[in-house]
Amino acid sequence: MSPSPRKCNVGFLWDPMMETFDFGKSHPVRVGRFQMVRDFLKEIQLLSADNISTIKPHPLSEELLERIHAPDYLDEVRRISKTGVGDIDIDTPGFQGIYENARFTSGATVTGVNSILSGDCDHFYSPTGGFHHAKYEWGGGFCVFNDIAAAVYKLKDNGFSRVLILDLDVHHGNGTQEYFYQDPEVLTISFHEDPEWLYPHDGYIQDIGFGAGLGYNVNFPFPMDSGDAVYRYAFDALVPPLVDSFKPEFIFLLPGFDGHYRDPMAHLILTTDIIRYTSKWTHNAAHRWSEGKLGVVSGGGYHPEAFLWCAGTVLSVISGNEYSPPIQSPPFEDDEETWGVVKDNVRLVQKLVFPIHDIKKE
Ligand SMILES: [Zn+2]
Ligand SMILES: [Zn+2]
Repeated sequence: MSPSPRKCNVGFLWDPMMETFDFGKSHPVRVGRFQMVRDFLKEIQLLSADNISTIKPHPLSEELLERIHAPDYLDEVRRISKTGVGDIDIDTPGFQGIYENARFTSGATVTGVNSILSGDCDHFYSPTGGFHHAKYEWGGGFCVFNDIAAAVYKLKDNGFSRVLILDLDVHHGNGTQEYFYQDPEVLTISFHEDPEWLYPHDGYIQDIGFGAGLGYNVNFPFPMDSGDAVYRYAFDALVPPLVDSFKPEFIFLLPGFDGHYRDPMAHLILTTDIIRYTSKWTHNAAHRWSEGKLGVVSGGGYHPEAFLWCAGTVLSVISGNEYSPPIQSPPFEDDEETWGVVKDNVRLVQKLVFPIHDIKKE
């Protein structure tokens, strides 16, 4: 018999205010999205587990907001928020109250960090957050304020000097990459679909950081149609050696629900098996290196059912409570061509990045 999973205290960030995050009826992020997650987690009895508590998010402080975004950009978001006229970018429509709402949905991530620092919980899970496309002077890709950047600055203010951002969202974390591109205190690992095909068309293997941060930005692009097997291969070959060498004091995980085979926004063919595998590994790594300090922000995920199965899977892994999603059957398996590209990519990343971290390839 396998040992029963570790039970940890998890804070679930939730408030009805999240529901005002609404880009419109025909947009993937619209009213109902977060209520749906919450109702589902309740239905599968995770939210009633005695080691999972609901935490009310606080809005992002003006002080942090002004550190992560340019004054002109903030003025623009405030203007759109007041009038309801104008867009953040072509696929991120503005609406009345967007400034307050974005402060709140991004603030949830910082609230989660504070709850861990004060010892209220071991890990947090926020169904919103992971706004990894937002940059200092720019919002877009459904992202208004970069909550991850804000949370990392919060940690730095508290003396943390080794933070890991493991960004498995199927889209490249281009905004987050920019904040920490020259910063060796923040190791950013982004696994995503090939930028040739997918938004934001950025995140190439060669982009490994700059100056003191050289080697602390790792990009791994998967070819279209990559499934669980190649994903696991690349994860095993890259993530454990890098993370074990970096020894993070705090870990952020974007679990990558939009890589699921049923997700309409991208072209990977993952299942919740790989979500379970990567979140389990990351959870264990948090206990090994970070005294458990782990924050999960779920980011994307646009298939109404798959997204919920993924959320249930991650929350069950980090809390140690049972949940099994339905059996899933991706349309096909990884073929020889996919294996070839993934193996080549793995070798290239290892060659570029491992020597900087003094990692010997076995
Ligand atoms: Zn734990
Ligand atoms: Zn995404």
